[in-house]
Amino acid sequence: MTSTTQTLPLLLEEVECVRVERLSPSFVRVELASPALADFGVDGRLYDQRIKLIFPATPGGPLPSFEGADESWFYTWLDKPVEERGHMRTYTVRDVVGEGADTRLVVDFIVHEGECGPGGTWGANARVGDRLMLLGPRRGMPYGGIEFIPGDARTLLVVGDETAVPAVAAILEQLADDARGHVFLEVPFADDVLTLRHPDGVVVRWFPRDGDPRGEALHAAALDHLGTTPHRLEVSDDEVDPDLWETPGHSSSGEDVDATSRAVGHDFDGLYAWIAGESKVVTALRRALVKDLGIDRHQVAFMGYWRVGVAMKS
Ligand SMILES: Cc1cc2nc3c(=O)[nH]c(=O)nc-3n(C[C@H](O)[C@H](O)[C@H](O)COP(=O)(O)OP(=O)(O)OC[C@H]3O[C@@H](n4cnc5c(N)ncnc54)[C@H](O)[C@@H]3O)c2cc1C
Repeated sequence: MTSTTQTLPLLLEEVECVRVERLSPSFVRVELASPALADFGVDGRLYDQRIKLIFPATPGGPLPSFEGADESWFYTWLDKPVEERGHMRTYTVRDVVGEGADTRLVVDFIVHEGECGPGGTWGANARVGDRLMLLGPRRGMPYGGIEFIPGDARTLLVVGDETAVPAVAAILEQLADDARGHVFLEVPFADDVLTLRHPDGVVVRWFPRDGDPRGEALHAAALDHLGTTPHRLEVSDDEVDPDLWETPGHSSSGEDVDATSRAVGHDFDGLYAWIAGESKVVTALRRALVKDLGIDRHQVAFMGYWRVGVAMKS
């Protein structure tokens, strides 16, 4: 295994899968290892820290080389033919175990039915010894990729589907003991409900779909919690931005966060909301929270983690 990118302000390293555990019908947990992960880390808590993984173009096939990579590594990589560069997708650091050269990153993969891309396919078939490229934060260097920024919020609203469960689980474990709030999580099946560690003041509710339409029960429960109607998830497909990303620090629609803030009718003072999952479901919640309820955009992060029928861009 090579450490190729000593000169970059981030880690761009080949990692080896050293552990695989099937947690439930839809979750596969893997541990990814490399001596280079001794340098993995951020200043402060990881919360929902995202990383990128590069999967080989064909299962077990070669990985792209970043030998001698410089600041232009991304475009150099993108210029290569897909058979050589493979596929990049976004995942969450569920946990970090070990230390020094034995540091391992824990990543939970969703195994879903139907059409599966390179990431889901890799997770479903992961074996000890499989290799990937990993892009993540190098300790002491700015990297970004943490969106959970509650500031001095007094209460939390966290909503996510199965792709956000790893991030939510990591966030909950890192909250202060006196944190308060409500968490709504949708998973494919009742057997996907996991045991999560969280502060006593945080209530976690699970919504297994078990064949019901995606997002509907989750949407209704979150709005019910905020004391509003209607509860139906009504957004047409052409209104959905597959790359929806509306946080206080970034707007995929180009909205000015200050211009869109306004006085609220309900008492949402002290609330911080973090909402992630399938883009249509997140779009519907965004409309309800920001447009209908008038919640200040400084208090919310809406993230489309994936979109039905759309292969994610690198
Ligand atoms: C910040 C961030 C953190 C994320 N963390 C995680 C994580 O920790 N674990 C995780 O598993 N995912 C996570 N995701 C979601 C993951 O990146 C997407 O699901 C991605 O599309 C998976 O890539 P793929 O190659 O499997 O599918 P793609 O090639 O992107 O898509 C191929 C097809 O698969 C379908 N598809 C993709 N994902 C799903 C799904 N979850 N359910 C049903 N159909 C799907 C698409 O609709 C499309 O038709 C995260 C995304 C973001 C933005």
